[in-house]
Amino acid sequence: MPAATGFDNNGFPNNLTRAVKIRSMQTPPFTTLDPQDLELIEAAAEVIRRNYDPERHSVGVALRGVSGRIYFGVNIDSCAYGPCAEPVALGAAICSGEREFTEIVAVIGDTFAVLPPCGNCRQMLFDYMPDVQVILEVAGQQVKVKARDLLPYPYRGFTER
Ligand SMILES: [Zn+2]
Repeated sequence: MPAATGFDNNGFPNNLTRAVKIRSMQTPPFTTLDPQDLELIEAAAEVIRRNYDPERHSVGVALRGVSGRIYFGVNIDSCAYGPCAEPVALGAAICSGEREFTEIVAVIGDTFAVLPPCGNCRQMLFDYMPDVQVILEVAGQQVKVKARDLLPYPYRGFTER
């Protein structure tokens, strides 16, 4: 008998397994923050506090490696191309030999609110550190969630397929 085609009542393709559908409908597994996470948020706030320029650098990132060392980045706006603070922090970490990471957070320099990663950065995080805990704010509460859970059905051109 051929596989069913079309979509179910929830909009999922009929050929997805029930387990995949259930996982897709659940909210990601959020974790509450610990004191080290709060330190990382403050570190990101401090780097953008020191380097804030609304036309060039408005977001600061702090990225903790498995070594415990923290790497920093700010976004680099220009009229040509402006990378986010996340790839800048990752580049700094790579230059220092760090390859595995535990947590990352972005903070905006005018209100010092925690920012979620943009779509491009979600793909980058998935490619380089799918299990890193991303600190973000959900419904007014700061939580952390694995990068892989922020990008369902990811493109896998860079990592294993
Ligand atoms: Zn981004």
